[in-house]
Amino acid sequence: MQYRAFGSTDFKVSALGLGTMRLPLSSIIPQKVNVNKSIKLMRHAIDSGINYFDTGWPYHLGQSERIIGKALQDGYREKVHLVTKLPMFFISRENEFDFYLNSSLKRLQTDHIDTYLFHAFSKNTFERMKKLKLLDKMKKARDEGKIGNIGFSFHDTLPVFKEIIDYFDWDVVQIQYNYMDTALQAGRAGLELAASKGMAVVIMEPLKGGQLANPPQEAKDVMNASGIHRSPVDWALQYLWDRPEVSCVISGMNTINMINENCASADRSGIGSLSQNELKVIDELVEIYRKSILVPCTDCKYCMPCPFGVNIPLHFATLNHQTIERRFYYRFFVRRSYSALVKNKKRLNKSKTNGHASLCTECGACIPKCPQSIQIPTELKKTLEVLDKRKNIRDIFPE
Ligand code: SF4
Ligand code: SF4
Repeated sequence: MQYRAFGSTDFKVSALGLGTMRLPLSSIIPQKVNVNKSIKLMRHAIDSGINYFDTGWPYHLGQSERIIGKALQDGYREKVHLVTKLPMFFISRENEFDFYLNSSLKRLQTDHIDTYLFHAFSKNTFERMKKLKLLDKMKKARDEGKIGNIGFSFHDTLPVFKEIIDYFDWDVVQIQYNYMDTALQAGRAGLELAASKGMAVVIMEPLKGGQLANPPQEAKDVMNASGIHRSPVDWALQYLWDRPEVSCVISGMNTINMINENCASADRSGIGSLSQNELKVIDELVEIYRKSILVPCTDCKYCMPCPFGVNIPLHFATLNHQTIERRFYYRFFVRRSYSALVKNKKRLNKSKTNGHASLCTECGACIPKCPQSIQIPTELKKTLEVLDKRKNIRDIFPE
């Protein structure tokens, strides 16, 4: 494993971090995490040299923090820099800060969190943080030794990012960045700005919700023609580790195999290690993906559950597979999940996540929750034109 500077702190962070928003699920009970598999996976990550664990209060409806708490018993806690987040989308009163921090500490079975982040800062949540004086609460928690570094994760525009960066002497920032998203949200300008201020920059969504792991055939052809033998995931990760501003790249690995492959990638990584030729290949991939991804959904599920039961990400995944995925069997399975969605609200399952977009009332509740700023009801309507009415994709989503 390679270790890198973590901003201005003394800590050396593994180039690869474990994201725990997409843990292995039970094959029997929907949405339930497979606890034993997850613990094994987490301990394997630590034994492989990963020392950065990222979670969040709402991940897997609280199961993520609880399972990490179990996995870090037997001497594993001391080997990990533990990060969790204050759920800014739920907080409406100042005293709720203590509730969320204390419940995270309890679930994680620890007396301190190494880095505590404001979760998903945007203009709105940042203003709320100021109004409720939550930064003072953070500083107090740090003085009490309950948390170490203070930072935030971010989903909004670059001007908002700059405003937040200038507001406080933050230790850590977590941003979405990958070779497709250099101009989205904080983007490359935000990455460089944060690093120039001595902040540790942690990257999330390095594979754009898995989309860069499953390239369209045209992109695979470009990779093969380059003569450089590297998996699509490795291309995406090396692009990030090439940058001196990046401290750690979080990947939501949910199999042992993924951990092994990504650790091997991290071993080969280095700042400035990509040649001009390799960077040119990535430029070509960007152009191909730009034409292929119709709705930039990363499957983060922040918009879920929809109050009317619509399974939002499954619609966008099915749509994007029309242009990205050439393997017939894979398209078949995605399409089959889509076909199983119900159009009758009485048949929605208990968790209300199996609804078809025809149940959408255009209430708009999902829009502010989407970090990718997708106009969800509008895009769902267009998606149905393609998936149900079989209209030509390029008539509905012009290039
Ligand atoms: S706009 Fe549609 S998809 Fe979004 S929350 Fe409302 S009903 Fe659900
Ligand atoms: S629509 Fe937005 S919030 Fe919902 S899963 Fe996709 S990216 Fe996440």
